Amino acid sequence: MSRQEKIQGVRGMNDILPDDEALWQRFEEAVGDCMRGYGYRRIRTPIVEHTRLFVRGIGEVTDIVEKEMYSFTDALNGEELTLRPENTAGVVRASLEHNLLYDGPKRLWYTGPMFRHEKPQKGRYRQFHQVGAEALGFAGPDADAEVILLCQRLWDDLGLPGVQLEINSLGHSDERRAHREALIAYFEANKDRLDEDASRRLYSNPLRILDTKNPAMQSLVEAAPKLTDFLGPESQAHFDRLQKLLHAQNLPFRVNPRLVRGLDYYNLTVFEWVVDGLTICGGGRYDPLVEMLGGKPSPACGFAMGVERVLELMRKAGAPLDPAVCDVYVVHQGDASQLAALQAAERLRDAALDVVLHCGGGGFKAQFKRADASGAFLALVFGEDELAAGEVTLKWLRGDDGAVGAGRQQRVAIDRLTEVVIDAIAQD
Ligand code: ATP
Ligand code: MG
Repeated sequence: MSRQEKIQGVRGMNDILPDDEALWQRFEEAVGDCMRGYGYRRIRTPIVEHTRLFVRGIGEVTDIVEKEMYSFTDALNGEELTLRPENTAGVVRASLEHNLLYDGPKRLWYTGPMFRHEKPQKGRYRQFHQVGAEALGFAGPDADAEVILLCQRLWDDLGLPGVQLEINSLGHSDERRAHREALIAYFEANKDRLDEDASRRLYSNPLRILDTKNPAMQSLVEAAPKLTDFLGPESQAHFDRLQKLLHAQNLPFRVNPRLVRGLDYYNLTVFEWVVDGLTICGGGRYDPLVEMLGGKPSPACGFAMGVERVLELMRKAGAPLDPAVCDVYVVHQGDASQLAALQAAERLRDAALDVVLHCGGGGFKAQFKRADASGAFLALVFGEDELAAGEVTLKWLRGDDGAVGAGRQQRVAIDRLTEVVIDAIAQD
């Protein structure tokens, strides 16, 4: 038979391999602890939603809806569906559908894969993961401060230095409207300096022009009218109070008047966590969204962080990784030994030990190589000698300092095996 063509994974969608598992688990545990520590409860929504949820919830004139969504028609029933590009819209949809806000505000969090059709590059993928928190039904700057403090605690728990907070206020819609007019007038007066994206957005979403990454336009947007100069007293008070709460916690931040965020539904507070110019987490207040999605008006704020970007920082910070996959590796030779080894392995698992039983035969030398590579603390040897005597040989694979091949050996009676192994591991 001719060799079959190898089928590759989809571009920009990554396999997460077992060697990365310890890193992911360390991250996920820290996230779970943090969320619990602030009273957030996990919600799991589907990866697929109706396309109109995102069109309405994210906004038509955004990068995501304009060009990044994996949208398709379900060939079986004609429904227009989309792989979720973010999860705030999904969480709000689910909260309304199940009436979660009936007895007051809710703190929710999620994690999982998101999908955006972008040009894949380091830190930018087509399937990537986000962790997010949503504080639904909270109007005050205290909730904004809370979600920000939660993030800071996570960076601290993960040992990530140098993550910097930038904040801004987008005010309310009437304030944004006045600013928008000033902005359009300013950009119209500088029409020849706008790039293609900016010209297209001049009337549809001029605020987004401020978010441009085009170096040629930096000085133009730098001098553009600032939204913070258009804030009314109420918006200003909200922004001031947030800053006061952050100061009180000694949390350093920078007010960045050009911070606008990509999504349409933000108002008042917006923030980003940035490391060396790369945003790892963004969030803010999105008071209009619940009503836009058909609910009773209800204020809300939250954030979404890019998991892959955080993991990359953890790698750089030298996150300690434990390569061990088991406590005990069991080697054996011959049919009778295999049977005894299998039974012993099951007993050890009954006692909650992690056991890898050698499969596939081979000499003791080859089996010990596997045992060493497994990271196990102990090898158990079921040989013919041992079996005849009703015994097992314990071999210590790692010394107290974790060095491979510590070499100590001991023979024990099979019926005492579990207690001896537990003792040996407890002394590790
Ligand atoms: P950017 O300006 O980098 O495209 P964004 O504004 O589209 O970011 P958000 O929608 O705010 O990003 O998503 C929150 C976080 O999710 C980002 O700060 C980033 O860390 C991460 N993220 C966004 N898109 C991707 C992607 N394609 N691959 C990996 N991580 C991503
Ligand atoms: Mg983007």
